[in-house]
Amino acid sequence: MLFEFDLIIVGAGGAGLYAALEAGKAARTAVISKLYPQRSHTGAAQGGIGAALGNVDEDKPDWHAFDTVKGGDYLVDQQAAVILAEEAVQAVYDLENRGLPFSRTPEGRIDQRKFGGHTRNYGEAPVHRSCYAADRTGHMILQTLYQQCIKNDVSFFDEFHVVDVIMDGTKITGLIVFELSSGEVHIFKSKAVLFATGGFGRMFKITSNAYANTGDGPAVLARAGIPLMDMEFFQFHPTGIRGMGILITEGVRGEGGVLKNRDGERFMERYAPTLLDLAPRDMVSRAIMTEISERRGINGDGELDDYVLLDASHLGAEIVEAKIPDIADFCRTYLAIDPVKEPMPVQPTAHYAMGGIPTDVNGRVTTGKVLYEGLYAAGECACVSVHGANRLGTNSLVDLIVFGRRAGKHAAGFVKSADFGHIPEGIEQKWLDRVHILKTRKGNGPGNYYKQMQDIMMRGIGVYREESGMAEAVEGIKNLREEHKTVRVQDPGKNFNTQVLSILELENLLDLSLHTAAAALNRKESRGAHSRNDFQQRDDKNWLKHTLTLVRDGGVEIDYSPVDISRWEPKPRKY
Ligand SMILES: Cc1cc2nc3c(=O)[nH]c(=O)nc-3n(C[C@H](O)[C@H](O)[C@H](O)COP(=O)(O)OP(=O)(O)OC[C@H]3O[C@@H](n4cnc5c(N)ncnc54)[C@H](O)[C@@H]3O)c2cc1C
Repeated sequence: MLFEFDLIIVGAGGAGLYAALEAGKAARTAVISKLYPQRSHTGAAQGGIGAALGNVDEDKPDWHAFDTVKGGDYLVDQQAAVILAEEAVQAVYDLENRGLPFSRTPEGRIDQRKFGGHTRNYGEAPVHRSCYAADRTGHMILQTLYQQCIKNDVSFFDEFHVVDVIMDGTKITGLIVFELSSGEVHIFKSKAVLFATGGFGRMFKITSNAYANTGDGPAVLARAGIPLMDMEFFQFHPTGIRGMGILITEGVRGEGGVLKNRDGERFMERYAPTLLDLAPRDMVSRAIMTEISERRGINGDGELDDYVLLDASHLGAEIVEAKIPDIADFCRTYLAIDPVKEPMPVQPTAHYAMGGIPTDVNGRVTTGKVLYEGLYAAGECACVSVHGANRLGTNSLVDLIVFGRRAGKHAAGFVKSADFGHIPEGIEQKWLDRVHILKTRKGNGPGNYYKQMQDIMMRGIGVYREESGMAEAVEGIKNLREEHKTVRVQDPGKNFNTQVLSILELENLLDLSLHTAAAALNRKESRGAHSRNDFQQRDDKNWLKHTLTLVRDGGVEIDYSPVDISRWEPKPRKY
């Protein structure tokens, strides 16, 4: 079938839904989502959304912007960070007005908790900045926004999976979409498309990310020839449940939880004397891995299984049940541990993609040299860049709301004077043929390839990196991309054939793994989440620049673009 809308938003997480609310007022807008909207990963966010409301401590947006820039190890575009911090305040009040049930102070204001890297007066001490709804902040955001979208008659296409873009040169003219229930392939024609497809942590073995986080948006656009930005920067969150990767929010440390090694020592005192357990995530993850490699971790079954302890038992049952009830439940369910009484075993878990589709502050996709007409991106799949080399906790939810809103607004304005572009006749046939080939060729199912990719990425592109491991990862992923060309769908059915989609998702993850591994191998310095044993220092002279990667003919082409450092001069990071 052929569908026609002025603007199509791909993704119904926080970024997509906020953009839809904004754009739906002014343009014929549709949201396409491979999941039911309420199942988007935004719903898993626990700890909070950062904004300098100053409800508990004195706070200012300028301090928030500075912390964001410093936390990102100065790879952040600084004017974008200023916009993020300034617009965060109104964004949180907008959410409150739309009905989000925030946790409250005794006086009835939105309560705020401490979070890693967020400080008072440019680094003096931790500040209460994260607005939260217990440890279900993302869930509440998603429910609030979805209800508002329904109320405002936004059109949804749920369980529709975007498999390709239709471009006319550098202008987007439509999308090719696979409908899960029927197995039909549809064309969606539009004047503008906004990608909000979320992250891609599933390329790693241990991850906090949902199964659907396969980076479809960036992968599809990269295959259409649009370079991706800063893909080497993938964040490991310090506290995933040992062996499983399920997230234990930083909010636990924000409420006073403490990391300890096998000797019961509060080891962060040695790594970040001022902020201690509330240092930025890259630093805390490295501290944990150093403790483990120097044999002060707790021994598991092998090197990837060693862990440290996160102790919240001194907080008391009342705080645990009121402030982190879901975390307490996870621990009881998955570990048979009650955090009120015992510490939680944790290890770093692959969590957040700082890199992605390059955009300006209005969500328009651009490399600085080329502007792609009618094409927008927002949320985790985009790289504005406000997170630079390392995102601060609570800054993703702000990013979704602030830049989702800006992108939706700009796109709605753009389509008013734009025309529909050209859709070549019979373009969907290529995809019908592709599905037919997937079902009829000889080869194995996708399961084993997933496992191999996740092992390779975990080993080579983890918290600490070195030349030989990264080179092995690049080669390993290149080989897997070749082998993947024989992978076969074993289920011949048409309806609800999730295996077809799983193979397409695997292809996306393999492509993005290659971008990530090659960009990491290329960057010869340590900055933020990219930490090399062979180049341990940050090198602003040679590497204060964004990476742009493009995969062509199996090889990776690398280019660069400048970082906006117009506000604060880069300094060494101390916490
Ligand atoms: C466990 C966990 C806890 C977190 N806690 C916090 C926190 O406390 N604070 C914070 O700031 N950040 C947190 N984060 C990060 C933050 O939640 C995410 O970065 C953010 O929610 C991503 O939102 P999004 O709108 O970009 O994408 P998502 O919410 O991931 O939504 C992606 C959407 O894209 C759709 N989609 C994807 N591919 C396709 C396709 N091919 N076709 C059609 N639709 C598609 C999906 O259906 C989905 O609707 C957390 C992340 C995790 C994993």
